[in-house]
Amino acid sequence: MNLKFHGWFTECSPMWPGQAFSLKINKLIFDKKSQYQHIQIYETEKYGRMLVLDGAIQLTERDEASYQEMLAFLPLNSHPNPEKVLVIGGGDGGILREVAKHPAVKEIVMCEIDDHVVAACKEHIPSLASGFSDPRVTLHFGDGMEFLGSHAGKFDVIITDASDPVVPDDDEAGKDGPAATLFNDAFYARLHEKLNPEGVLACQGESMWLHKDLIKGLMKKSRELYPVVEYAYTCTPSYPCGQIGFILCSKNPTLNLRVPVTKWTSEEVKRLKLKYYNTDIHSASFVLPTFMTEFLSSD
Ligand code: SAM
Repeated sequence: MNLKFHGWFTECSPMWPGQAFSLKINKLIFDKKSQYQHIQIYETEKYGRMLVLDGAIQLTERDEASYQEMLAFLPLNSHPNPEKVLVIGGGDGGILREVAKHPAVKEIVMCEIDDHVVAACKEHIPSLASGFSDPRVTLHFGDGMEFLGSHAGKFDVIITDASDPVVPDDDEAGKDGPAATLFNDAFYARLHEKLNPEGVLACQGESMWLHKDLIKGLMKKSRELYPVVEYAYTCTPSYPCGQIGFILCSKNPTLNLRVPVTKWTSEEVKRLKLKYYNTDIHSASFVLPTFMTEFLSSD
């Protein structure tokens, strides 16, 4: 359920009960129900264009770089040679745009369930779209879980840029969205199979202010598969509580995800048009507040 009054968009969801973030909107510029979800693009007063899926804010032009750059470069710059990259979800194109900036990347495969998200974002938020025309990119439309089951190749880095597993419904508990299949054990096991021996996985990891139990559970499951598992985070005002995390896993037991192998100078940061990511923030993003460190280390 989303409340709209006096030109404001208010984001309510069972994933963050009892709180809501609002943005003043100038107009609704795209509105369509696809086979999978309700897709809307708004022009906001202060945050540029905004993509909303099933009532949940996916990105705004003003702050999307804080999420896309971190989810792309935390794994890519931790891996010594990230030649083959898989992106699951990410239909807006933002992760693809960033992955395509990395000089070591030779092949990018993306599996997105909803071609209408891609088409709508290409047309209405073109600042995200540069990656779609990159010759290294192959785009598949389908469910990420099924794709992993049928694709023969393996990858150096896998990034899952999924929407939330639960989406609002008329009833307060909400219902499973198309991304529900991307948050279960079977999906994590398949991701592991598709990673090369030195591979790094990075997943959208939800907010520590809202989903501590979910994060802890995902990290526990991941530790059954990977010798190195970490939670890092970024600050994105338009995401619930202004903070969203990433779960990062490595198959290489000696890899320190906190210290990037690829370190970019401030000139390179400028040349790559980065707004948020730099080498210092890479390491800093793994430093957690006391309440989270205590929670994650408790039984
Ligand atoms: N950064 C955003 C966030 O965390 O709010 C996510 C952005 S991106 C738009 C999420 C994408 O995941 C959507 O385009 C959606 O269609 C796609 N998606 C959802 N379920 C999927 C699935 N099972 N397989 C592949 N893509 C999926």
